[in-house]
Amino acid sequence: MLARKGKHRVAVEIQWSPQTNEEVSRRQERYVESGVRCLWLFRYGGFPVSRGLPAVRVGGNLDEGLVALVPTGSGKPNLPVEELFDKVFNRHFRFGLPLGCEAIVWVQAGLLRCFSCRVKTRVVTAIVVDVGPFKYRFTIGNLVADLDLFEKVRERIPDGLGIGSIKRRCGKTQTSYYLSNGCANCGARLGDYDHDAWEDEETVCESPTGLRGDRWLHWSNLKTVYSFPIRIDEIWQSAIRQREDYVEKWGIYSMG
Ligand SMILES: [Zn+2]
Repeated sequence: MLARKGKHRVAVEIQWSPQTNEEVSRRQERYVESGVRCLWLFRYGGFPVSRGLPAVRVGGNLDEGLVALVPTGSGKPNLPVEELFDKVFNRHFRFGLPLGCEAIVWVQAGLLRCFSCRVKTRVVTAIVVDVGPFKYRFTIGNLVADLDLFEKVRERIPDGLGIGSIKRRCGKTQTSYYLSNGCANCGARLGDYDHDAWEDEETVCESPTGLRGDRWLHWSNLKTVYSFPIRIDEIWQSAIRQREDYVEKWGIYSMG
């Protein structure tokens, strides 16, 4: 089947029965050699996922319409195949994390009683990057790995949110750094926490070593306090690609 839109042409291979991966690869190579872009729709799972094979699993049936089982990023796990064709023609169907795609950064924060002045202060717990079909949660600890990224985030967080200043501090060795929140009221450093324990507003985490006062920190009102749009550039792309939960696959991205 050949789909057209304007001067663009895309061959669509719909596979209803399992093919060997070798057979699929062989046919894809033939398309590439003859200069045709091919989109593969598989009825069954287990097909190879790669940049060189634009492929989606399909459900539904010919009478009621086929649906593409592809994460859309809008909360829907699938979309009608006709809409998928639209996304393909408009270059929204992309592999991996495309440069230039639109994303939203959510800044999450929680309230903490300062050990020094006893006033409740708001601290950043994590930032969440919402991009295409995926959400990536960076704790303050994760951000340390990429100081360029940290600066990009910090410069976007406005004053007036009641968040104390986040500072980069030297660790035990010359080349190690960590980030810590500060008290918005008195400026006290609020320690380096085990941020991975901060999952949601019910989370209670053990107090970090070196923090005086309460043995346990009770996190409440953990929520998104600010969000801002970004476009994925090399710095964001590199930070996300280094994550353990990063998986390269085909998905729908907003390219603006
Ligand atoms: Zn304080």
